[in-house]
Amino acid sequence: MNPEVYEKYEIIDAHAHIFPEKIAENATINIGHFYGIPMTGCGVSSKLIESGCKIGVSKYLVCSTATSPHQIRNINSFISTECTIHPEYYGLGTTHADSDDLEGDIAQIKALGLHGVKLHPDFQRFNADSPEAFKIYELMEGELPLMIHCGDNRYDYSSPARIANICKNFPKLKVQAAHMGGYQSWDRAIELLPRKYENLCIDISSSMPFMSPQRAAEIIRMYGVENALFGVDFPMWDHRDELERFLLCGFSEEENRLILSENFKRFYGLNT
Ligand SMILES: [Zn+2]
Repeated sequence: MNPEVYEKYEIIDAHAHIFPEKIAENATINIGHFYGIPMTGCGVSSKLIESGCKIGVSKYLVCSTATSPHQIRNINSFISTECTIHPEYYGLGTTHADSDDLEGDIAQIKALGLHGVKLHPDFQRFNADSPEAFKIYELMEGELPLMIHCGDNRYDYSSPARIANICKNFPKLKVQAAHMGGYQSWDRAIELLPRKYENLCIDISSSMPFMSPQRAAEIIRMYGVENALFGVDFPMWDHRDELERFLLCGFSEEENRLILSENFKRFYGLNT
């Protein structure tokens, strides 16, 4: 891909995973096994930035998931520290539906100045619209955006129907529905989600490798180009490959600008 094709765009990666160095290798291998997909790199900051630099990413929305409640506070501190070291990061905190101190978790995330909360109900093993999860959204609504993993044909924890249920019950909660609203469940996602909820946007990570550029463009247009965020889901994919796939969708320059950075700034209320 010729750099001239993309150098004119500001590029924000709205979906990136990082782990502490000590556990990064194992965590990356585990994700690879979970999805049956070879990872492109190890999920540490140095590798993320190395991959993003190839296409001039200016900002990254980084997250890490607590698979058990006892990890929550440490992971939030880790993300916050990484954001201090890397000014190009916006950080998302984590919590868990089984946490016995959700108020404290959300208070920590706010006190650290993180930009929202990432949940991955499939890894975390709770239903995205369970009464316990709803308690998290109550604490966040109107204040912290939610980025949530969506969909997987093998599990029902984060199905598009559950994501719709969240959007319906919490109209003031901003929801970034990852993977075009339903990883490997795109048919169901487009039945239930596009243009139905004003608080919903999608990121387009971990989707384009599984469909033609025409299909990706079609799905994004269903949601509206103003409601889609570019994201790579590192270490799952490589930045250059994902940008190449995105540019093959054939959006106009203005639409590319929206998806690559402008929508992100509007959704997260940033004026950088
Ligand atoms: Zn993710």
